[in-house]
Amino acid sequence: MKYISTRGAAAHGVSSAYAIKNGIAEDGGLYMPESIPSISLEEIDALANKGYTERAAYILSKFLTDYTEAELSEDAENAYSKVKFGLSPAPIKKINSNITMLELWHGPTSAFKDMALQIMPRLFVRALRKCQETRTALILVATSGDTGKAALEGYKNIDGTKIKVFYPENGVSTVQKLQMQSQDGSNVSIDGIDGNFDDAQNGVKNIFSNTDFKEKLNSQNVFLSSANSINWGRLVPQIVYYISAYTDMYKTAEINLGDKIDVCVPTGNFGNIFAAYIAKKMGLPIEKLICASNQNDVLTEFFESGRYNKKRELKTSISPSMDILISSNLERLLYTEFGVQKNAEYMAKLAADGEYTLSNTELETIRNTFVGYSASEEDTREAIKYFYEKENCLTDTHTAVALSAIMRYMNEYKAERKILAVSTASPFKFASDVLFALRKTKPADEISALNELASLTDTEIPYPLRDMENRKIIHDSKIKKEDMENSTFEFAKA
Ligand SMILES: *Cc1c(COP(=O)(O)O)cnc(C)c1O
Repeated sequence: MKYISTRGAAAHGVSSAYAIKNGIAEDGGLYMPESIPSISLEEIDALANKGYTERAAYILSKFLTDYTEAELSEDAENAYSKVKFGLSPAPIKKINSNITMLELWHGPTSAFKDMALQIMPRLFVRALRKCQETRTALILVATSGDTGKAALEGYKNIDGTKIKVFYPENGVSTVQKLQMQSQDGSNVSIDGIDGNFDDAQNGVKNIFSNTDFKEKLNSQNVFLSSANSINWGRLVPQIVYYISAYTDMYKTAEINLGDKIDVCVPTGNFGNIFAAYIAKKMGLPIEKLICASNQNDVLTEFFESGRYNKKRELKTSISPSMDILISSNLERLLYTEFGVQKNAEYMAKLAADGEYTLSNTELETIRNTFVGYSASEEDTREAIKYFYEKENCLTDTHTAVALSAIMRYMNEYKAERKILAVSTASPFKFASDVLFALRKTKPADEISALNELASLTDTEIPYPLRDMENRKIIHDSKIKKEDMENSTFEFAKA
């Protein structure tokens, strides 16, 4: 199967290894498979008797045709091992007669990015070999907290790679900082910088666009790469868990094989929900995709009116991993529905004017599948409290945004279908805000919040967040934002 750019009309296809190695296409577009493979009900039936890693290898092989089945099986087994994910990497849990939860946070950082970032580095290293790349890949990440830790856990000790993470010294939570500062692994480097997340991100962008610097790295036999969510290698593992969840709903008799379900995803960069859309395109019986946003409601407005307008202020929220104004992966949806030409036109408009608007027929097409809702901070807290008290279901702030959307969707649509709610983080990852939603008082600090939430709800803290107070700090480097390039070079040549 070949991959083509969402913007390049006449572009010739590249292999999946090449797409994963490069991340973004030369014309600035994103890579997409030139056709979407299918999955039949017979195949789903057969997957019911298989474990998650076998399901993953099977589904990945439909997309990554230049990888052997043995390679994909090995990578899936190492990525989703019991040591890292426990018995089941993506279990479903019935909440009530309408809602089933898909829990994606049983990995090493207690949030869903592990589902992709545990396997992508393995696919990436194979891609280097398949493309005859002999230099060391230096992964550069700017993080506001969650992605950095998940990328560190994914790339640590992976041969042929080094990873460097920059975080704003005063812009991440205590727990997030401790998680990064205590990171093990022989190929990792972490700097706190004296600025905010934008400074970190701009610093990384400047490094990526500095040709002289890249030449200097090249002389050390090193090249730069990124781990961000527009890479196909991060998207494709996310398709797996939708198919797996459907299979489990069928296996547990929650649905009959072939029954349609609706899926609700708390959304930021539009990566996770786009993976659900691909699963639907493959033939997985999904009717509606419910796009849940927090108070940054760009996508809600888009699915309501067809207008995408990024010209607004970014609001920080209690669901920070969804605080986004440009949902990069939306481009893949425009491309799939309306083609290269239209997508390129809208992307050019977005860059020039900060907005674009779909035609009425285009909007109608999109609304056949998608519906968007946004939750205010208060809606989010209410959903946490309601689902804990009424359904005995403790959720984090991001998942609560989805649950709030589901309540409104059910009221509005009154559909008979079962709804799969995607749960993207452990409640303990955002313990302070969850506690506040439950009992309206703030804990003394984030570490006591973990213990207080555990005792209040009689729930175990997941292993990645236990014993935070006793973590050994390995990385305490603090640098000025002007020194990011220097620090990168020192690490590259070490
Ligand atoms: C990244 C993230 C999201 C948003 O996922 P996208 O793929 O960016 O839409 C939601 N919840 C959590 C906890 C996340 O870390």
